[in-house]
Amino acid sequence: MPLSEIQNPVPKIHYPIRIALFGSTGSIGVNTLDVVRRHPGRFQIRALAANRNIEVLAGQIAEFHPKAVAVADESAAAKLASLAAGRPETGCEVLSGTEGLRELARRDGYDTFIGALTGFAGFAPTLEAILRGKRIALANKETLVVAGELLTALAARTGSEIIPIDSEHSAIHQCLVGESPESIRQIILTASGGPFRTLPRESFPNITVEAALKHPKWKMGRKITIDSATLMNKGLEIIEAKWLFGVPLNKIEVVVHPQSIVHSLVEFVDGSVKAQLGMPDMRLPIQYALAAPERLDQSYDLLDLVKTSPLEFFAPDLEKFPSLELARFAGERGGLYPCILNASNEVAVALFLAKRIQFTDIPVLIRAAMESAPPDASESIQALTETDIANALKRINACDTATRSNIEPMLAGQ
Ligand code: NDP
Repeated sequence: MPLSEIQNPVPKIHYPIRIALFGSTGSIGVNTLDVVRRHPGRFQIRALAANRNIEVLAGQIAEFHPKAVAVADESAAAKLASLAAGRPETGCEVLSGTEGLRELARRDGYDTFIGALTGFAGFAPTLEAILRGKRIALANKETLVVAGELLTALAARTGSEIIPIDSEHSAIHQCLVGESPESIRQIILTASGGPFRTLPRESFPNITVEAALKHPKWKMGRKITIDSATLMNKGLEIIEAKWLFGVPLNKIEVVVHPQSIVHSLVEFVDGSVKAQLGMPDMRLPIQYALAAPERLDQSYDLLDLVKTSPLEFFAPDLEKFPSLELARFAGERGGLYPCILNASNEVAVALFLAKRIQFTDIPVLIRAAMESAPPDASESIQALTETDIANALKRINACDTATRSNIEPMLAGQ
């Protein structure tokens, strides 16, 4: 979201807000529905989308009565459609496949698109919502990492606001209300440091999937939990912050804060620092994103500074966590580099979760993928006309596909 819009907060929201929730069956999706549940009359669920978890989705349909749902996995969609046919009283249409998700995002009948799909799968539906000028509450950071240049330019053109759900970016957004872009000296993203913050480097090759999935502070989906353990999550967030706030990467720093109470900070040119604090509970930034700039009267666990003290801060260990610098490198190169970073990371994380590679192989594969980037990879992705947009999409999709298919041969050559 351009800073100028944060300075002059958007007009008061009109309720009920009609929501399309993409990724409803995941951790952010379920938390979002809990926020909706706690505010009867303020929000209406109009559309839901997920990949294959139709058991959870069927329960959500019964409770929230969306007009339509989209299921990316076609056989799961067919099963849900036959269940829905047996219960015509729900009146819920079932769309199928990745095209079904895009179609649902393109439709009228909702105000706010919540991007809570995981990974690159979130890109196409988010793009559709932006092209239609919808308000975007975005958790799916990979979408901005891969195509931030394109999406923020399109959002500025269509009037689509992008409000972050990621707790760090929500914190920065809140710190920047009423401030001017020139007054920012730096943005400081906090990182919990993950489960291996204090583990000696020599033990990293022995890290198991089970240990990596035990995040000390947040309960999240599997992919982001592994990203948090490698610190790639923070790397992706540096790039996300650049696009959300229009601040160059050299003004975005990372500090490790194991208590996850200070969600991020902004330092201004006069040396003053603003921070946003709260208990680690994603319902708070989700609720803020849904109603911003309004604050809704609903609190979750309240912060007790005495009980949570001491609050500690450390510099990240870049030798133990090389992914952070790989992400910064990709962000600085720009163009398709962040797409290569993201695709190789998604594949490497999946391989680690499948126990096919070691934890320490994740950054090795990402580095190798970036080293084999095509010569034109750092060319910027701008799109002024319809043809430009189509070409940019083709470039991004081709790069994502090529990067993914190059990882297996790399493994064979290792
Ligand atoms: P989860 O893995 O818990 O949920 C992912 C959701 O996306 C599910 O609804 C899943 O459907 C759906 N999905 C996964 N793959 C596809 C696909 N190929 N096509 C369509 N739908 C798909 O993830 P999280 O909720 O943890 O994270 C979602 C996003 O939010 C990520 O980008 C993450 O980085 C970001 N985020 C998450 C935070 C958190 O606290 N969890 C915090 C900040 C950001 P199904 O269940 O049917 O498989």
